[in-house]
Amino acid sequence: MYPRLSVDLLKVTHNTRTLVAMAREKGIGVYGVTKVHYGHPGITEAMVKGGIEGIADSRMENLEAMGDYGIPRMLLRLPMLSEASRVVAGADISLNSEMATIKALGRAAVKQGKIHQIILMIDLGDLREGIEPRDVHVFVPEIMKTEGIELLGIGVNLTCYGGVIPDEGNLGELAAIAGEVQKRHGVSLKVVSGGNSSSLYLLKGDFPKGINQLRLGEGIVLGRETTKGDPIPGTYQDAFILEAELIEVKEKDSYPRGTIGMDAFGNRPTYVDKGRMKRGILAVGRQDVVPEGLTPFDSGIEVIGASSDHTILDLTPSGNAYEVGDILRFRLSYGALLALSTSAYVTVHTG
Ligand SMILES: *Cc1c(COP(=O)(O)O)cnc(C)c1O
Repeated sequence: MYPRLSVDLLKVTHNTRTLVAMAREKGIGVYGVTKVHYGHPGITEAMVKGGIEGIADSRMENLEAMGDYGIPRMLLRLPMLSEASRVVAGADISLNSEMATIKALGRAAVKQGKIHQIILMIDLGDLREGIEPRDVHVFVPEIMKTEGIELLGIGVNLTCYGGVIPDEGNLGELAAIAGEVQKRHGVSLKVVSGGNSSSLYLLKGDFPKGINQLRLGEGIVLGRETTKGDPIPGTYQDAFILEAELIEVKEKDSYPRGTIGMDAFGNRPTYVDKGRMKRGILAVGRQDVVPEGLTPFDSGIEVIGASSDHTILDLTPSGNAYEVGDILRFRLSYGALLALSTSAYVTVHTG
């Protein structure tokens, strides 16, 4: 069944183990982020085997569909006010920045006879979620008096939106805020959560002191740190690959014939005339994948474009005589993997 997302579970476990060991050396525990593979149970289990401390996902649907691995579950995206009781029922920990939501979580927790743990998110410049540092001392006492809620710690998310790189400056600031909160409000913060895979490059040197947790997705699944996209030594970059089938192979022009208007996505395409070329069409498209995020295993193949259900290839430079029915393999970007694992048209094959 193609297109197929092929997953090597041993490589997933190996990558997890490698990153968990690197982090542990600096006194940091790893939460394994499962959103990029749609919370797939087998892949989640492979991450658990690799030694993650907890599971983290941005969607309640994914957390709810998982088995119980005996480790905590964290909701990464700020809870919707409307899903507060669902969050308390299905997650042990959530990341938060809104008092109204925290109070709703508290009410739900009391009702369900639970204590819900929260990590208060601080925005240190990336401009996605989080309160501004100067508001910390207003939020902390409010949270501390909210019944049903335990303030587990504080955290930051960087790079995902603003592209801001974690460094001694911003992570040092987070650690300093944690110290100040403990002193001023007499609360012990168990967790200082220092971001995602973009913080991995810091493990090579002196990791900013006082950070004791990272939430890692891409680093585990694709073996890459995410500030520059460099491979992480000792990890696999091909634990996840796409296999897709050729449905047409023909010699054709490289320059379209006729008047060029807009393509299927409203863009006005431009073309370079390279003369005749051997072109292939794969049965996979923008509905399933980000075609720009595909790297063919055969370096003689180039992805030249795509519409909803078709991906067009230039096969000319390849030494292989491809035919209809052949299966081609690709390495994946984060965006490509995310799309593939959530497309209803893609089979996930683990082995
Ligand atoms: C997605 C996400 C992560 C994981 O990011 P990666 O770059 O895949 O490691 C961590 N924290 C939050 C809040 C997220 O939304």
